[in-house]
Amino acid sequence: MSEAPIPPALGPADLGPDSTPVAYEVGGPENAVAYVTLNRPEYRNAQNSVMTYSLDAAFRRAVDDAAVKVVVLRANGKHFSAGHDIGTPERDFDTFYPNVATLHWDHTDRSGADQRLAREVEVYMGMCRRWRDIPKPVIAQVHGACIAGGLMLAWVCDFIVASDDAFFSDPVARMGIPGVEYFAHAFVLGPRRAKEILFTGERFTAAQAADWGMVNHVVPRDELGAKVEAIAEKMVTMPMQGLFLSKKAVNICEDQMGLRNSMDSVFGWHHFAHAANAEVGGDSLGGMDAKSMKSAAQQGG
Ligand code: ZN
Repeated sequence: MSEAPIPPALGPADLGPDSTPVAYEVGGPENAVAYVTLNRPEYRNAQNSVMTYSLDAAFRRAVDDAAVKVVVLRANGKHFSAGHDIGTPERDFDTFYPNVATLHWDHTDRSGADQRLAREVEVYMGMCRRWRDIPKPVIAQVHGACIAGGLMLAWVCDFIVASDDAFFSDPVARMGIPGVEYFAHAFVLGPRRAKEILFTGERFTAAQAADWGMVNHVVPRDELGAKVEAIAEKMVTMPMQGLFLSKKAVNICEDQMGLRNSMDSVFGWHHFAHAANAEVGGDSLGGMDAKSMKSAAQQGG
């Protein structure tokens, strides 16, 4: 394969507030809180591979910093994340970065279903699972839109604090696809709510998300940062071992309840959908892009 450029964000030292799609800084008492900030506000923080690898580098940095005990994932701009990048000029489907989340082959010199599977195993599913198992608590601080792939980012966090203007949806059934790759829907929403939001593709509010148990706290927008800070500062008074093992314990329970195995199963159906779309219409996303998804949602169709 040809030499692909390595994004600057892969080197954690290069992560800065302005230079990459993910900013990293530490704060709080004794710099024990790491703030990882999605930073593509001009594209509503749509996730291209540069962003997912930058996120990975930022989380890695937080894990390796012995002073850091809690991580906050938040976003610059009007929205948390509009989802996976399916249409910005910097979409980078064909770019390869060295795999770090899974042991799988490079997708760029493959084709068809093999290529899609290799890419999504690494960049979507593998990354999300890796982040979900970070040995430090991670709080999602969500405002504005948190759509499809945005839900994946929020769900891998240990809990979610949202502003009252936050809204959520997974509308990918419109593409003929049974939900986003990290299929935690039935676990975080309950089976009936999961079906409702998947079958209709409709938005649900922060208040609804809290009512259904997906979100821990909803606060006015101008209090969001302070609320998350206050929770983080309480948590950093706990010993790292207590935090890590408590996280591990709950994650083990979720997996015993079937989260991991369910996700593996559904991932197969997800890729059946991509392949079926590609076979029939020549496009794995069912002919939809960011623009058509948006206008379909606005028409309520
Ligand atoms: Zn997919």
